[in-house]
Amino acid sequence: MTELSERLAAVHRRIEAAALRAKRDPSEVTLVAVSKRKPAEDVVTAYVAGARHFGENYVQELVDKAPQVGAHPGLVWHYIGHLQRNKANALLAVEGLGLVHGVDSAKLLRALDKRTTSPLGVLLQVNLAGEASKSGCTPEVLGELVAEARGCEHLELRGLMTMPPPVDDPEDVRGFFRQLRELRERHDAGPELSMGMSSDFPVAIEEGATIVRVGTAIFGARD
Ligand SMILES: *Cc1c(COP(=O)(O)O)cnc(C)c1O
Repeated sequence: MTELSERLAAVHRRIEAAALRAKRDPSEVTLVAVSKRKPAEDVVTAYVAGARHFGENYVQELVDKAPQVGAHPGLVWHYIGHLQRNKANALLAVEGLGLVHGVDSAKLLRALDKRTTSPLGVLLQVNLAGEASKSGCTPEVLGELVAEARGCEHLELRGLMTMPPPVDDPEDVRGFFRQLRELRERHDAGPELSMGMSSDFPVAIEEGATIVRVGTAIFGARD
C-alpha cells in the first residue's frame, strides 16, 4: 500500500467511528478528498484507492487538472472555493462537476443559473463567525438566498456549507457546526451539510455533517 492509500483508509476509519459515536450510518457521510495544489497523479492514486469525490478551490487549477486526471467512472469534482462570476463559464465546462459548495450571493446564483443548461447542485456558504477574510453569507440573509436558489430554473439547492475559523481544539468549532445544522432545519435548505476539514471532521460528523472536505489528512501538507 502507498502512504496515500493508508492515509485515506485511516480517514475512512475515523469517519466511520465518528458516525457510530453519533449513532449515524457511516454511509450518510460523503468524503470529498481536497486535492488543491496537489498533482493529478495524486488524484488518480486516491481514486484507485477508492476515493470518488474530489474538491478544488481554484477554477483555473480545476480546469487544468480535470483533463489530466481524465474521466473515470464515478469520479465527481466539487468546487469548494469562492467563485467569481466571470469564472462561472470555465467552471461549468469542467467534465464531472457535481456540486458547487461556496455560493453566497443572489448575483452568483443568477449567474450560474443563466450559464448552465443542465441541472447543477449548489450549496449555500454561511459565514458563521463573521470573519471578514472568508466568504459566505450572513445567517440573516440566508432565508432570502434559499428563496432565490429555489427560484432558479437550473439550480438544485442541495444544502449548506461552512468553514469555521481555525482553532487548536476542534471542540471550539462544535457550536458553529451545530448552528449550520439548525439553519438548514429552519430554512429547509436541502439535505446536505458540508462541514469539517482535516482538523475537525469527526466533530462535524457528530454534529450532522453529510459531506466532509479533507485535504491534508489524505494528501499530506501543501506547499
Ligand atoms: C483547503 C480546504 C479544505 C481542506 O482543508 P484541510 O485542512 O487540508 O483538510 C476544506 N474546505 C475548503 C473550503 C478548503 O479550501
